[in-house]
Amino acid sequence: MDADLHLHTLHSDGTYTPEELVAAAAGHGLAIIALTDHDTVEGCAETAALAARAGIGFLPGTEITAELHGRELHILGYFLALGDEALARELGRAQEIRQERVRQMVRRLNARGLGIDPEAIFELARCKAPGRPHVARALVEGGFCASLDEAFDKYLKKGRPGWVAKEKIAARRAIELIQGAGGLAVMAHPGLNHDDTLVGKLARLGIDGIECFHPRHGAGAPERYLSMAREFGLLVTGGSDCHGTSKNRPTMGTVRLPMSFVEILRERLHQPRPAALPAPAVGPAVGGPAGGNVPPAESAPAPSPAPLGS
Ligand SMILES: [Zn+2]
Ligand SMILES: [Zn+2]
Repeated sequence: MDADLHLHTLHSDGTYTPEELVAAAAGHGLAIIALTDHDTVEGCAETAALAARAGIGFLPGTEITAELHGRELHILGYFLALGDEALARELGRAQEIRQERVRQMVRRLNARGLGIDPEAIFELARCKAPGRPHVARALVEGGFCASLDEAFDKYLKKGRPGWVAKEKIAARRAIELIQGAGGLAVMAHPGLNHDDTLVGKLARLGIDGIECFHPRHGAGAPERYLSMAREFGLLVTGGSDCHGTSKNRPTMGTVRLPMSFVEILRERLHQPRPAALPAPAVGPAVGGPAGGNVPPAESAPAPSPAPLGS
């Protein structure tokens, strides 16, 4: 009985419908899944109902595109109250930014003689959080490229004619939003950032956990991140980051998180947060004097980060 806490549907850049996602999870014998579409919680209610019918546990989540010191990083949110207004407002803004970015990409491509209708991309994406994979699909379907890979290589990668910089939410704000919605904030796939110092910086901003298990984490990475989780008192998560067939083969089933990790997440939900870690003795202080997510004085707990399942 395992969990997969990192999954996408067509509510962002995955290809599975919620039905297909739940069916695949059942096929893999998963006991718990979390939906973590980029910058949206749109599919959570529907997926929760389908999962319940299939006898699979469900955690409502998201994966926020965030930024710290100019670096893009992804922050997963779990156990979110879907009706939280601040979260809805900020995700709505992130979705508008994504839609405007698609329009800008199309303008750039059309200025080079391609004829793409941005509305056709929104039509094809049918979600509020469209992104480059949808533009890539439009390029293939319009006959401008033979494959999604070619669309990225030729037009959509950084430095290519259709590339447009992405405006992101500050990491501190993303963590606040997730925690403000009653959730746990977790750094997604730290290995893809190629900068492990980000883990300590996010810990000082009050992040709750780190995704140690991810299909693109190479040999030795899980152990390295487990040890960092212990060092910074962070929770541990993992998931397949399955996007259906939009990024080659579905990865569901390749990363299976034992249920004991999910139990620890649940326990942490009901505990007050440990105070944010003090700034490091050496090196630049991160976060400035306002200091991470130090809880208000009336709820300040003893600073005792729980060890990870020892
Ligand atoms: Zn990600
Ligand atoms: Zn993801």
